[in-house]
Amino acid sequence: MVFGLRTIIQSIVTMAQPKVVFVLGGPGAGKGTQCQRIVKDFEFVHLSAGDLLREERAKPGSEYGELIESYIRDGKIVPVDITCSLLERAMQESGKNKFLIDGFPRNQDNLDGWNRRVASKVKLLFVLYFDCPLEVCTNRCLSRGAAGSGRSDDNIESLHKRFNTYTSETKPIIDYYRNLNLVQQIDATKSADDVYDAVKQAFLELGASGDI
Ligand code: UDP
Ligand code: MG
Repeated sequence: MVFGLRTIIQSIVTMAQPKVVFVLGGPGAGKGTQCQRIVKDFEFVHLSAGDLLREERAKPGSEYGELIESYIRDGKIVPVDITCSLLERAMQESGKNKFLIDGFPRNQDNLDGWNRRVASKVKLLFVLYFDCPLEVCTNRCLSRGAAGSGRSDDNIESLHKRFNTYTSETKPIIDYYRNLNLVQQIDATKSADDVYDAVKQAFLELGASGDI
């Protein structure tokens, strides 16, 4: 009886916890595009760490604006306390409890900060990993830049730096989650529609198992 009650209380606590899916993959792998589609079908809130940093950079008088700009142009990862504060604030302000956190955690500092500040308060459902070769990613980012993305890092110089950071710092984080059996790997080389078929399947399975 006591055991039954505890189980019930535990499941209520788990249900009330915000749910998080991390979305990772190289620059141009399609994280943002696919997130927009997931939002439409599954009522998640899309929080792109990169977009939140760019918004913060654009605020007049922002304490961190210049630092963020130089990190982004150099393809380096902004110190986690800045990124985590922006994410936590956006989560709270949304008033919702299902989040796609896109482009985070990207390195050990990000992971440590998240684990220290947020991890125990949320349930990490899985890490959606868009697997895409560097040549495909490069072409997508360069066409995005040529089409007027306005991003200061969609040029070949910044891209080299972003890829180096991705390979040396982000890949180990994906491996860390893979060892925890939390990675859903998606082949991201196909068209956006085909990639989304696989993504949707992963979320439908979550729904079927009662996790969302
Ligand atoms: N960035 C960061 N921390 C994050 C997310 C992004 O420092 O948690 C910076 C980093 O310099 C990165 C840039 O923002 O290269 C652009 O990130 P975004 O996720 O927007 O790029 P994408 O991978 O989607 O092309
Ligand atoms: Mg993006």
